[in-house]
Amino acid sequence: MTNLHRLSIRELSEGLQQGKFSSRELTQHYLKRIEKIDAQVKSYVTVTPELALSQADAADAAIKAGNATALAGIPLAHKDIFCTQGVRTSAGSKMLDNFISPYDATVVTKAKAAGLVTLGKVNMDEFAMGSTSESSYYGATKNPWNLDYVPGGSSGGSAAVVAADLAPFATGTDTGGSIRQPASFCGLTGLKPTYGRVSRFGIIAFASSLDQAGPMARSAEDCAYLMNVIAGHDAKDSTSVDKKVDDYVANLNATSVKGLRIGIPKQYFNVAGLAADVKARVEESLKKLEDMGAILVEVDLNMVEAYVPTYYLIAPAEASSNLSRYDGVRYGYRCENPVDLMDLYKRSRSEGFGEEVKRRILIGTYALSAGYYDAYYVKAQKVRRLIQQDFLKAFENVDVIAAPSAPTTAYKIGANLSPTEMYLGDVYTLAVNLAGLPAINAPVGLDDHNLPVGLQLIGNYWSESQLLSIVHQYQQNTDFHTQRAAIAEENA
Ligand code: GLN
Repeated sequence: MTNLHRLSIRELSEGLQQGKFSSRELTQHYLKRIEKIDAQVKSYVTVTPELALSQADAADAAIKAGNATALAGIPLAHKDIFCTQGVRTSAGSKMLDNFISPYDATVVTKAKAAGLVTLGKVNMDEFAMGSTSESSYYGATKNPWNLDYVPGGSSGGSAAVVAADLAPFATGTDTGGSIRQPASFCGLTGLKPTYGRVSRFGIIAFASSLDQAGPMARSAEDCAYLMNVIAGHDAKDSTSVDKKVDDYVANLNATSVKGLRIGIPKQYFNVAGLAADVKARVEESLKKLEDMGAILVEVDLNMVEAYVPTYYLIAPAEASSNLSRYDGVRYGYRCENPVDLMDLYKRSRSEGFGEEVKRRILIGTYALSAGYYDAYYVKAQKVRRLIQQDFLKAFENVDVIAAPSAPTTAYKIGANLSPTEMYLGDVYTLAVNLAGLPAINAPVGLDDHNLPVGLQLIGNYWSESQLLSIVHQYQQNTDFHTQRAAIAEENA
């Protein structure tokens, strides 16, 4: 079989269970594609063929013995922010280039328990700070739709592997849009779950009150399969919530689009910098949902102008605290020949962190310093609460809220936006993390450069099943999610 990489997760599961192909064949098929194509895309930081083949053989044995779970033997790529035992976990940083994790993140443990096969670890912005994946120590990943463009970030590698058919699905993390925006830039479906739905244990911390892991795949159905694996309470993460997990696959048709009230925040569609093509595609997708029976309702989200400043205060504050652990002593990069302890700290951190990470440590440390704490950090926390209340008020009248995932399509590699220009590109995703809400990106067509555009649907707390179901039904009625990136077409 030559087209194994074109199959959906359900088709892969059926094919494996019915013995049409083995997990070893499937895994080797992907490893070969990676070898052939990834030099152009540069999505993998580490490929793990030995681990993958041993997991594939174990899955094949379980399938033969008749005691395999539904996803046993299906390959998966992990963002290089999930600790994987015995494998380098770099977070895209020179600081962790030599870090072999002694343990697995809970998401990785759950994936292994489900019989999924680890193909490797994929590229990302350094410590998940960025929107292009260019801040990685390992260099830029390319957008499979056009190799001159970025795949988005920070989970750019996760998006690129799926869009280039170098993995059937991937894990990502989203602190301020890092699942939804790269999914948007690469024409994929990506879900950022409610804060607390997926364990953060073993995920290299960026901003702990915002970080959340989720699936990135071609369709809502494929995402649902991965959500069934990774969601749930974990005693090792005190912020994970002990709440019944839905069966996301079984519920794919459970939400009726007929009569569904979709909120349209008019302020979102007046944001300066919203590209005409993006606006047009998003409006067309809303028209389609309306044709399917949804009711579009105007809602007010008045805090839009506060999103970027609030996030870019809180996220760096938490990052500066989280990243203080990288001191050159216990693990990670250590400078050569330190003359004393201070020199060891200073040079290890100066040499080990990249520019964007240092910028955020500086901003965060400043905002948390005794003289400015009330003026900046405490103020930002108060605004954060107002942003959340704004959403809750909107949800009194609507079931979900629609928005673009990003104001533009993918940027050119090396476009060198200033930090503030780059931050403004996150305007549609940040508030969801500040409020702890779930949101999903769905591909809804292309711009006039043939680059994908994404629709974002934001749900109320714990509504990931509903979001997946709405997108699933939209995808039953459209074919944007089946369109393949250029490099995938060339290597079909
Ligand atoms: N682009 C945002 C940032 O740079 C979000 C990143 C993320 O979600 N990890 O912080």
